This record gives sequence, C-alpha cells and structure tokens, in this order.
Amino acid sequence: MFDNGNTAAAAAAESSAASTLKLRFEQVKSLLQKEFGETAYRSWIMPIEAAGLSNGALELSVPTRFIRDWVKSHYADRIRSIWRQHFGAAIRVDIVVAAKKPAAPEGKETAQHTVAPYERPAVANENAAAVENLSSPLDARYTFQNYITGPSNELACAAAKRVADGEGAPNPLFLQGGVGLGKTHLMHATAQAIRARQPHRKVIYLSAEKFMYQFVRALRTKETMSFKEHFRNVDVLMIDDVQFICGKESTQEEFFHTFNALIDQGKQIVVSADQSPAEMDGIGERLRSRLGMGLVATINPTTYELRLAILQSKCQLLNRILPQDVLEFLAAKISASVRELEGALNRLLAHADLAGRVITVESATDLLQDLLRANDRRVTVEDIQRKVAEHYNIRLSDMHSPRRARPVARPRQVAMYLSKQLTEHSLPEIGRKFGGRDHTTIIHGVRKIEELCASDRALKDDIETLKRAISG
Ligand code: ADP
Ligand code: MG
Repeated sequence: MFDNGNTAAAAAAESSAASTLKLRFEQVKSLLQKEFGETAYRSWIMPIEAAGLSNGALELSVPTRFIRDWVKSHYADRIRSIWRQHFGAAIRVDIVVAAKKPAAPEGKETAQHTVAPYERPAVANENAAAVENLSSPLDARYTFQNYITGPSNELACAAAKRVADGEGAPNPLFLQGGVGLGKTHLMHATAQAIRARQPHRKVIYLSAEKFMYQFVRALRTKETMSFKEHFRNVDVLMIDDVQFICGKESTQEEFFHTFNALIDQGKQIVVSADQSPAEMDGIGERLRSRLGMGLVATINPTTYELRLAILQSKCQLLNRILPQDVLEFLAAKISASVRELEGALNRLLAHADLAGRVITVESATDLLQDLLRANDRRVTVEDIQRKVAEHYNIRLSDMHSPRRARPVARPRQVAMYLSKQLTEHSLPEIGRKFGGRDHTTIIHGVRKIEELCASDRALKDDIETLKRAISG
C-alpha cells in the first residue's frame, strides 16, 4: 500500500483511518445499545471492536467464538444496514476471534484491548456477587395467588405447584405457550413459593439470555468448572425462554451436560419456551428428547372468562374499581395476550387518575384505539376454519379430523393456506390447530394450494371470496 520510504506519513494516515473507524463503530454500537437494550449490549455488543475496514469488508473482533456466533446471527445484519444508512457504504461484516488470532502486524494492539473494556466493568465488581447470586431477580407480584387459572392454563399451573411442593412433580417440566400468556409469571411464582416455604431447597431461575451471559463470562474468566459445579448443586433449575439457545451449539452443549447431571441426581428442572420441544428448530436431537421426556404443559390462548377474571383480580390487587361493562368490553376486545390486556387496563386507570373522571366504554374505545384496531385485525385460525367449512359445506370438525378424502382434504388445505396468509401464527402453531398435524403437513398444504391456484381459476376465485369474508 505505502512505499517504504514514507513510513511516517503512512503510519499517520493509517492511525487516522483507524481512529475514524473506531469512532464510527462506537456510533454503531451506541445505536445498537438503544435498539437492543442494556442486557444485550453488555453481553454481546460491548465486547465487539472494529479491527479494520478494507475492500468493502468491516472486520470486527470479539473475544470468544461463542460471542462471534451470537453476534453473527443476531447483529451482523443490523450492523451492515446501520453502516449503509449512516456512512453510505455497503459493507460486508467479517467477525474474527481476537484471542485466537496470530499476532498480525496491525492486529496486536486491537487484540489486546478487545478484552479489557469488557472485562473490567462486567467481571471485576460483580464477580463475587455473581457466583452467590446466579439467579435473575424475581418479580414479587408474580405469585400463585395472583395467577388466575382457567381451562387454558390449569395444567401448567398445577404442574408448577407440584414443583413448588417438591413431591411427585414431572421432571423436566416444560411450560410451552405463546407470548404474554404467563410462562414467566408461573416460573417466578414457583421459585418464590420454594424460597418462602422450603428455603433449604436451592432454586435458580434464569432467563435464557442471562444463562448464556453467565456462561460466556465464566468462559472468559476461566471459571467454567465452578460455573458448572454451581448449577450442579442446585435443587431446582429454571430456565425461561429456552428457545433462545436454539442454534447456539456451545450453550446447548453446556446446558445438556448440566441438565443431565441434575436429572441424574434427581434434581428438578423447569424450562419454558414458545414452542414445544418437537417444534424447536436448531436444537440437537439428544437435547430435544431430554426436554420432552417429562411433561410438556401447554398454556393455551385465554378464554373470555379467564380474561375477565384476570381483569377483576388486577383491579382488586390495585385496589381500583372500573365499571363492569368496561371490564367486559376489554375482555371481549383484547384477546391476544394477557400482557396487552394489562397494558390496556393500566392505560385506562392512568387516564382516570389524570382526568379525574370515571371511565366509560366510549372513553375506553377512544383511549385504546390502537390496541383495539390491532386486536380487531387479528384474524384467528378458528375464524378461517369456520368460514372455509361453511363455504365448502363440510363439518368444522373435519378441519381437525385425520380423514384424507379429497372433499374434506382440499378445503382443509385451503384453510391452512389462508391461516398462513392471514395470521401471524407459525407453521407448528397452525399445525396444532388442525388436529395436531406436523408443520411439514401444513407446508405441503400451503404449497399445494399455491400450485393449484396457478391453473385453477375457480379455486382462485373461491380463495378471493373467502379472504374478503374473513377479513370483513
Ligand atoms: P410470558 O412469559 O408467557 O410471555 P408473562 O408471564 O410475562 O408471559 O405474562 C405477561 C403478563 O400477564 C404478566 O404481567 C403476568 O402477570 C400476566 N399474566 C399472564 N397470565 C396471567 C394469569 N393467568 N393471571 C394473572 N396474570 C397473568
Ligand atoms: Mg416470559
């Protein structure tokens, strides 16, 4: 690049390029921090350093392979698009592990201080406390007492209570359910019940992200052994949102060993995920079968009655009163998740405080416009099945039945196709709603209809008609 006679100028140019790069990358990092939040920042983003930029490739260095894989799958795309947006250049992102890199001419310095800024704040001051307190904090409001049950969640709740009592509990207990349906609440409730009633039982509750964070940190401080030992000494290990370890081989491996060691010792494991073990992609077969060998307790979407009961209970806890017709209105209209339902309730209560007025159905409609619209637009698989069954004059139960005769199979495939198109559900979720069919069956159905539509005018018209009827 530079001729030998001009080393001083070359070095100066190089160092100014390096500092520009560094500055730019700091900007990128702070945008990522805003976007992904503090925990993710501290675990994954902070350790990334910009090592060089040449020939359209931004080279980033990270301290471990594990962080590299994570950054690659979670942040590389985002880094690329931020870079293009802010600095107007399309780049490729290469991520290298600094510690393993041979001392390349310009690599030395970067390699040294990649580690330092991360290690100091994250490890030194927390180190002693972290081993003592591996568990994530628990929300005191998330108790069994505050958890309202109905047909959709009573199995999961009963199983969790068994774990809390410590007798005859399914092991592992796998809590499976969609977002905002109470998985975290149940896990906190279990952990808190144990701590209150049987303090000698050692419980660790971890979000999957925290689990990985702890693991990475242990690797970095060469405490892997004591880290494992620590988990191996717990009586109850709870890991929330375990789907986050899908595709993360080294974490999975670690989890698998810890898991086996605990199960062999007769210790209790509870995990939660938004999918069942069978549906999880990017997870090793061994771990999948271990996860499924206890009880997979599904938390199903809520019913109207349950939503109403939850609202009443929340009001009681907060010592507030809302008119019954407003509660009924909320329970009827906001059905997607309990989290949204709570959000709506809180918004109304805050408004009542501010305005000093009683909330009515009219004012609620006004205040919750955005939420109501989002819930309105949400077409359900059940709606689709009903409309399609009516249209083709078959029984609704044929949507779930194993019958394969064409007169029922084809409409069923139409319903699968529309479910994929008009709802946000994943293929496994749709499969479940069609009599527990495998997601590959759903893919097959969707493709079949796509194919047929290309040549079959009548079918295409049918589908258009149905779409209009369903979306209202
Ligand atoms: P998930 O972990 O499944 O996404 P959370 O446990 O975070 O859901 O629940 C979201 C919110 O809804 C929490 O505030 C929780 O207390 C509340 N919630 C969910 N289910 C219930 C229930 N059955 N009774 C009372 N509150 C509930
Ligand atoms: Mg949760």
